[in-house]
Amino acid sequence: MILIVDDKPENIYSLKRLLESKKFGVDTALSGEEALKKVLKNSYALIILDVQMPDMDGFEVAETLAGFSKSKDIPIIFLSAVNTDKTFIAQGYASGAIDYVTKPVDPDILMLKVKTFYRLYEQTTALNEIQSALRAEIEIRKKVQAELKERVEQLYSTLESLPQVAFTSDPEGNIEFVNKQWFRYSLSAKAFPYTHPDDKNIEEEWTICMFTESPLELEVRIKELNSDAYHFHLLRIIPIKEKDKVVKWVGTFTDIEDQKQVEKKKDEFLSIASHELKTPLTSIKAYVQLLQRSLKNNPDNTASTYLERAQLQLSKLNNLIADLLDISKIESGKLKLNKKSFNFENLLSSVTDIIHQTHENAEIIRKGASVNHLIFADEVRIEQVLINYLTNALKYSPDNKQVTIETELHNGHLKVMVTDNGIGIPLEKQKNIFGKFFRVEESSLRFQGLGIGLYICSEIIRQHQGSYGVNSKVGQGSSFYFTIPI
Ligand code: ADP
Repeated sequence: MILIVDDKPENIYSLKRLLESKKFGVDTALSGEEALKKVLKNSYALIILDVQMPDMDGFEVAETLAGFSKSKDIPIIFLSAVNTDKTFIAQGYASGAIDYVTKPVDPDILMLKVKTFYRLYEQTTALNEIQSALRAEIEIRKKVQAELKERVEQLYSTLESLPQVAFTSDPEGNIEFVNKQWFRYSLSAKAFPYTHPDDKNIEEEWTICMFTESPLELEVRIKELNSDAYHFHLLRIIPIKEKDKVVKWVGTFTDIEDQKQVEKKKDEFLSIASHELKTPLTSIKAYVQLLQRSLKNNPDNTASTYLERAQLQLSKLNNLIADLLDISKIESGKLKLNKKSFNFENLLSSVTDIIHQTHENAEIIRKGASVNHLIFADEVRIEQVLINYLTNALKYSPDNKQVTIETELHNGHLKVMVTDNGIGIPLEKQKNIFGKFFRVEESSLRFQGLGIGLYICSEIIRQHQGSYGVNSKVGQGSSFYFTIPI
């Protein structure tokens, strides 16, 4: 908008028409005072100011405008019939005006100047806007940076207070911060502690995680500088993301040496105890068999029944010890497979017979196409897995003894599923079900067991390069499966 200031309405009228014909917005004032009031209230891109006015002349108005921050940058074109004198022009400039046009006004010259000033005003306004936007941006960045710095410092002081070894790194894995515990294991704040030569390499494992931006969890032995001894640690490195982008990694080494020692002692104990139990058990079994044989010639019903029961308990004890022995074999890496080709259907019917012997009311249903291939695997161990799945299916189904065995051949693999209609397993427990000594608490009081059967099964299947798992819903039964390559 352009403001025309002139004490003569006829002058204002002709100028207003001229400017409006060129599509400029126009406002008017009939005196210097009115002009000042309007300038304070509205925004103008240009002021056309008559010099000769009663009371306050144009120069006085311009001087006053130059004193207000709101108006000091508005361009002014002075109009004058007389004062074309250079000193007046200079006076005009000194008070903030920009140009000067003499009366009678030549419309072409005036329009030329108006357009130039108008453009100048627009450019200045745009520049000012950009500048203030930039200033705001800088302020925001400064604030964000300060907040970030504060958060990082908070993180560092938290890590410093931890009893664990802790560190942070940039997204590429360059270590940025280490706490004081770090120096018990490493001389340099930039290098990881020495790991045991038999353990996995930290940098290599971490690089794999960096590609997928996923956390790393690794058990490694690291060397303590003072004692030169390796200690088992659980290393966890977690990516910190902002807007889906990794901005930092935070890592801790937690000392698990004591835990490992206890585990080792427990495994040693298991191994010794099960071996020691096996020898007397074998002799008792032999004596019971001898007793049974000698009683055949001299039948005494009560004694035979007792002996049969003793046999049953002995075979339970035998299975238990066999399982414990398997566990210690797995721990020491001595569970070896003895693979041969065998007929899977024959194995299934022998397993079904064994189950019927111990579970008279079991109803085993066979589903899926029969397996005509010869399977190359450890038959005894696969039988062990099947018996385990089936006994569990019957054990954890107190009200329904119907169990199905379903087979499927797919992609060079045999898949076997054992499905029951039993108590089922809560979803959150399913991922642990194949773990060592794991039992679902909800059912552990009702059903006897040690929680090692499925662990042994998983190890047997793993050694066959197969897979295993469970699908289950509480109260609706479970379906345990395994696959092995054929
Ligand atoms: P155990 O039966 O001796 O406890 P397992 O390793 O065979 O040990 O099984 C681990 C746990 O898994 C069991 O304690 C039980 O809670 C659960 N489980 C296994 N099979 C089934 C099943 N078919 N239905 C429901 N729960 C099961």
